[in-house]
Amino acid sequence: MIIPKASKLDATQLKEVENIVDEFDCSILEIQGRKQCVYALLGDETHAVMFKRIAGLSYIRKVDAIESPYKLMDRRSALSEHQVEVGGTKVGIDKPFIIGGPCTIDPNSPSLYLETAHALKDAGVNALRGGVWKPRTNPYSYQGDNKAIEIILRAREETGLPIDIEVMDSDNLTLALDAKVNILQVGTRNALNYSLLKEIGKNSAGTESSVLLKRGRHVASPNEFIAAAEYLVAAGNPNVMLCPRGTTPPLDGYRNHPDESITPLLKSRSWAPVVVDPSHSVGHAEYILACSLSAIAYGADGLCIESHIDPAKGIGDDPKQAITPSQMKELILSCQDMWKHRYQVAD
Ligand code: PEP
Ligand code: MN
Repeated sequence: MIIPKASKLDATQLKEVENIVDEFDCSILEIQGRKQCVYALLGDETHAVMFKRIAGLSYIRKVDAIESPYKLMDRRSALSEHQVEVGGTKVGIDKPFIIGGPCTIDPNSPSLYLETAHALKDAGVNALRGGVWKPRTNPYSYQGDNKAIEIILRAREETGLPIDIEVMDSDNLTLALDAKVNILQVGTRNALNYSLLKEIGKNSAGTESSVLLKRGRHVASPNEFIAAAEYLVAAGNPNVMLCPRGTTPPLDGYRNHPDESITPLLKSRSWAPVVVDPSHSVGHAEYILACSLSAIAYGADGLCIESHIDPAKGIGDDPKQAITPSQMKELILSCQDMWKHRYQVAD
């Protein structure tokens, strides 16, 4: 990875670097962080002469050649200071970043979503979630509806909160990017769909849209999980959050096998914020608080939790696992206490 002295290379400098890497059949990709541009080297990067020539240019701060399966996501990479921001809020600073909202937006009941959104804002969430297009195990279950995007956009306008929507294919992605959706969620079923990850990374590069990448539910190892996120960053978008959400086979009685304990492993290997999803992990409203506290104790930067003003009236997963906004308020306060306790212990 090439790091310039200034915040980015000017056109002449870029051309000079491109000419050098071209001689070695490599190319470079610009990755725009919040403050600093870095340039990933693509191709066979084992050419010591190429490194020396680039490092010798007066406007280059350093050339990093870390040995890692995920050079950009690695804790030791030049992006290690990169700060993911969603709607102006830095994720993982001062208190847990909380995404809340129904599993699925009911296109026929906009008022239920809008009331939920306002109640969640009062409860203290940082972002609203809501499924517009749904990956369903059963092909005959409700699959989503384009109409629902209008509802969540209205909720963003009314509450001022950023929004999180799952995208499953190019058409969804185009609509979500046109609508400037703040968090593009990649679900567990697409978590290792590398072509989709590349497309999302490329098309969201340089935009305000971050990506919440769920963990592949068939027990993606920490390295496999981080390497999947590398596809997004290597395609140009460094605003990536890792989201453990439980794995299969499930722990008897839970929806999946809870995996919030993977958090410290992810954080020791990568700089990316970890936002745990307890809802799909335990899958029952009554266990969400315990799983959330556990995630924060393990070092999570945030949580993505399904919540509905009247879970019984929800669709998708809501009747089983959504908590109410008043439960969300209690949960947020308890998690903020756990967060402070975590830092006292660390001091
Ligand atoms: C969801 O967030 O509603 C969802 C479908 O998540 P996952 O991809 O983790 O199952
Ligand atoms: Mn769901």
